[in-house]
Amino acid sequence: MSNKIGCVNSISVYALMDTKVYISYNQVHQLIKDAVEHYRINEDYKPDLMIAIGGGGFVPARILPINRCIKTFIVMMNNNHSLSFVQTPEQLSWQRSFLKRPNNKNIPIQAIGLSLYEDLGVFDAEQADAAATIGTQVVKTQWLHFGHVTCPLLGKNILIVDEVDDTRTTLAYAIQELSRDINEEKLKYIQSHPGSDVPETKLAVFVLHNKKKQKRMELPDQSIIPDGRYFAAKEVPDKWLVYPWEAIDISEHTQKSLEQEEENAI
Ligand code: 5GP
Repeated sequence: MSNKIGCVNSISVYALMDTKVYISYNQVHQLIKDAVEHYRINEDYKPDLMIAIGGGGFVPARILPINRCIKTFIVMMNNNHSLSFVQTPEQLSWQRSFLKRPNNKNIPIQAIGLSLYEDLGVFDAEQADAAATIGTQVVKTQWLHFGHVTCPLLGKNILIVDEVDDTRTTLAYAIQELSRDINEEKLKYIQSHPGSDVPETKLAVFVLHNKKKQKRMELPDQSIIPDGRYFAAKEVPDKWLVYPWEAIDISEHTQKSLEQEEENAI
């Protein structure tokens, strides 16, 4: 049933009364673009592996390293009146609008699946002991897969991507589990390369939205936030966000998003 009850100055009341905040694809795209520039992610952190937490992190992770593939040709008329196409500098290097690697290779994306037990209906967070370990609150539904590559995480600047940091439980669990994998790789490396330095591996977090609220968990890697490796495209109040990939009617969803934007609902 629609909760649309009227219009005020061409703004429909349903958007104003809705406690949910509707996020459009345009907003997602623009947020990512602005955040990559603002945090200088290409210049400073230089990620070479993304780990997208499914399903909300998949679309943002795909947009982050988008290839624009701009092919700019200058068309020249030759003396013999034939046309030739001259490459411009833009064409010589494939353009990427957001994240890029110096060698112009795509940044690989690994997908992991994590679900809160409460979302699966088997864990009541409100009843739970606040000191409960993260592992009792999150379940792995999918994990990394690198085939036969040895130590695929070691030495990498890893960017963990999710759509929203709400209670921080999911991110904390992802980092806890990734740190465990990285430590296992370190041990393997030390055994196979005795005496040599272990390549440094860094973890960073990218989220579209960070809800300004008391978090249930802290990030297990204590250096991420103070070292500036926590990239939130936008800080938002603690409201339910509806992402465009969750929409049933994308036109209505986008319309609601536009109306809320006009009203500065977020
Ligand atoms: P956490 O509480 O662990 O930070 O967030 C767990 C997951 O809950 C997120 O990855 C996301 O999938 C989901 N979630 C939390 N808040 C919201 C929200 O406002 N909107 C949507 N669509 N999902 C949310």
